[in-house]
Amino acid sequence: SDDGVPGRVRVAVRLRPRNQEELAADADFAEYVELQPELKRLKLRKNNWDADTYEFDDVLTEFASQKSVLDGYNGTVMAYGQTGTGKTFTLGHLGDGDTSSRGIMVRAMEDILAEISLETDSVSVSYLQLYMEAVQDLLVPANDNISIVEDPKTGDVSVPGATVAEIRDQQSIVELLRLGEAHRIAANTKLNTESSRSHAILMVQVKRSFTGQEDALSSEIDNSSHLVKPSKPIVRKSKLVLVDLAGSERVHKSGSEGHMLEEAKSINLSLSSLGKCINALAENSSHVPIRDSKLTRLLKDSFGGSARTSLIVTIGPSPRHRGETSSTILFGQRAM
Ligand code: ADP
Ligand code: MG
Repeated sequence: SDDGVPGRVRVAVRLRPRNQEELAADADFAEYVELQPELKRLKLRKNNWDADTYEFDDVLTEFASQKSVLDGYNGTVMAYGQTGTGKTFTLGHLGDGDTSSRGIMVRAMEDILAEISLETDSVSVSYLQLYMEAVQDLLVPANDNISIVEDPKTGDVSVPGATVAEIRDQQSIVELLRLGEAHRIAANTKLNTESSRSHAILMVQVKRSFTGQEDALSSEIDNSSHLVKPSKPIVRKSKLVLVDLAGSERVHKSGSEGHMLEEAKSINLSLSSLGKCINALAENSSHVPIRDSKLTRLLKDSFGGSARTSLIVTIGPSPRHRGETSSTILFGQRAM
């Protein structure tokens, strides 16, 4: 499908640079994943003479800067991939001491702050974690099992039990994200699981007010007195949603039991239902099956007509994870 078509999901692939262990590994390494960023192509080598080639909207090499990753992404941005491939680095990295490595969450909020006027406009955030089909507030962890509410008239989705924190300056952005991250680690330790087994969702709400002269329709002219009443401001709301998805790796059901098995089932359910919704968008289908999981219910607005949704699929360079890498690539391909 083409750019500019409503409902179209923009899909980028990003390759993580080799880590220490991978750098120490064999020399064939670089040949497994080959990127051709100008052609927006990725090749996965099958053997010495054969490779599968895939096209994406963007191909971000291991040298892509964090800044370049943000360009052109708004509305909803989701990161999908195996644990350890760079989802959190791409979205949530705070870049302490090295602002150039900060991820999309900080940058996007800074861009919004720079754009608006705090006298008339506001920007606020909720930061949630979704684990085993339960929504938890990462800003105030005592709020757990929060319900997702859908307005029967407008269909708008909201999470009224979650903390809404107003952002006033650059410093408060980083503080909020750091607080959320700390709560995420604490909550997961308590639940005896890892951050990679839950989805983290940052919802940014922007309210902008426009008054008077800027919009003639908002002025009510009183004909009897020929006076122009002070016009009511027009408020425009927009939402940015950033989603650091749970690791997509298949948890081997045979080896897991009890809690681990339930956790695996829950992640499989939410990621597969997300896949179905994204595919429905890609196919321009009128039925988007959002009701199958809490993740897709929370992201309902991202699947609507005017939504702009982007998916960044992250992969690692190691041929050892061939299976997971190709299944990540296929998830991305099906979204296009
Ligand atoms: P995930 O969230 O997918 O599990 P992380 O974002 O935690 O993966 O990344 C795993 C490790 O790799 C982290 O130490 C992270 O800093 C590093 N990393 C990931 N992507 C990049 C990148 N593009 N450049 C440099 N380091 C990266
Ligand atoms: Mg992560």
